[in-house]
Amino acid sequence: MKYIIIGNGIIGLSVAFRLLQNEPGSKISIIGPSNRKGGATAPAGAMLNSFAEITASSLQSEASLTHFQLSHMATQVWPDFEEELISMAGDHLPEECSTCQVHTGGCFSKGTFVINNATSDELDDKNFNAILSALNEFNEQHSLVDPVDIPNYQPAAAARALRAVYIHNEGWLNPKIVLKKLDRIMAASHNVQCIDSSVKTIVDTEGKISKVILTNGEELEADTFIIANGIDATSLLKRSGLDDGVQSIYCGVGLSMEIKTQGYPHKNVVRTPNRGGACGVYTVPYFKEPEGNDCHILVGASNFVSSIPEYGARISSVSHLLHSATYEINQNFYNAELVSVNVGNRPISIDQYPLIGQVACDNLFMISGTNRDGFHLSPVLSDFLVRIILAKDLPFDIDIFSPTRSVIHDLTREEAVSANVDSLMSEQYQHGFVASNIRQVEQIRNDWERQVNDVHDKAGAHDWGIPPLMFKLYRDGLI
Ligand SMILES: Cc1cc2nc3c(=O)[nH]c(=O)nc-3n(C[C@H](O)[C@H](O)[C@H](O)COP(=O)(O)OP(=O)(O)OC[C@H]3O[C@@H](n4cnc5c(N)ncnc54)[C@H](O)[C@@H]3O)c2cc1C
Repeated sequence: MKYIIIGNGIIGLSVAFRLLQNEPGSKISIIGPSNRKGGATAPAGAMLNSFAEITASSLQSEASLTHFQLSHMATQVWPDFEEELISMAGDHLPEECSTCQVHTGGCFSKGTFVINNATSDELDDKNFNAILSALNEFNEQHSLVDPVDIPNYQPAAAARALRAVYIHNEGWLNPKIVLKKLDRIMAASHNVQCIDSSVKTIVDTEGKISKVILTNGEELEADTFIIANGIDATSLLKRSGLDDGVQSIYCGVGLSMEIKTQGYPHKNVVRTPNRGGACGVYTVPYFKEPEGNDCHILVGASNFVSSIPEYGARISSVSHLLHSATYEINQNFYNAELVSVNVGNRPISIDQYPLIGQVACDNLFMISGTNRDGFHLSPVLSDFLVRIILAKDLPFDIDIFSPTRSVIHDLTREEAVSANVDSLMSEQYQHGFVASNIRQVEQIRNDWERQVNDVHDKAGAHDWGIPPLMFKLYRDGLI
């Protein structure tokens, strides 16, 4: 059997890895530019957060519960997946892994502190409460902690948290090392060919995909084709005339920054709950090299949803994240060195759920739309997709995320209007808004409520609601 995988981010590579595990004799070609420009994977946290990502509106619908099931499974699967990667890499592990002790090594560990401070507004409290409820409901191991006991947490006095929770099993990885590990595994396999190029079109011959045409004109044939090219999925399907009924993918442009502190190493993720417009502020240990300086920390992340990709960092995002890291997490980061600024485009669907499964023809499959969770979900989504391709049983049904589904509407219009106003307000507070004491907040909320209702009317959203992250695209007529 011959497979072509279009895209070389964490999703494409983990699908290739699962195929190697399941069908060792098959031939696999992975096509993607080696610089991965604008790709989402390298700039990722990459936090393995499931409960820490929960918000007040999570877990209310079948789709949200199924997504949570995938995400919870991913948190459990990662330690084994990491071991499987190390085992398959054998002698080809990157040099950074030379002191690896698997789960106690430098680049993978567990433990996330979620803090609840008052630097933005009450949306943080609602989301923090939702995390606590879910941890209790699902009996997930956690401990309420006094924020002063969080290692390497020394915020400004006015930004100090009064509540915090430690989630024992939610960890983190260095995505660049994981990518390197997967690249090495693929390069070492006699059955895998990595092609430094892009696919221009996919060719459908009498109802079956026969080949892909690369941007350099080269044509490649295979039996089965897998689209895993992140934000380019919609455009590729359109260029190939195969986009009928497939939900569009947009770009969740995000920024993260690697800093090197002067003697303030992190041992765990320290983060806020998700906030309006983005995931709040987080700081992740960022392992660089064996026996080396462990003061590298990844600060993340900004997010704005756009119809076109962005490749450069917006200075407002840079300044906001650096300020948040020093003000809300540790003032001693003031003299940290800025090592790198990473910009990536998260693939996000209109309803914000992944697209996974067969599309257009019997031998064409795709995964995209993983938004803020694709790194974490990769071992599970790749396993599910390969089971779908090989007609094997799935641990549970995920038809709800079929690429050709109708857009899922989780929210009623009333719920969405309220969620949008909360989100817009939270964004303002995150960016320094201070209200007067003569009912200014009420005035602003009323204005936004009118605007959000207008946008719903224009979009024909009478009995369904626009999710906050997609609001600006609907407002600007881009959806
Ligand atoms: C700042 C930031 C922080 C994040 N933090 C986290 C986190 O903490 N945890 C988490 O789980 N997720 C996180 N994410 C999200 C996660 O990174 C994505 O969900 C995931 O990386 C998507 O993987 P992908 O392989 O689908 O896409 P990508 O990584 O974008 O890979 C797609 C690849 O396909 C290539 N390509 C594009 N077009 C073509 C073509 N026509 N032919 C061939 N190749 C093509 C691209 O060059 C790219 O290399 C974050 C993302 C960002 C930007």
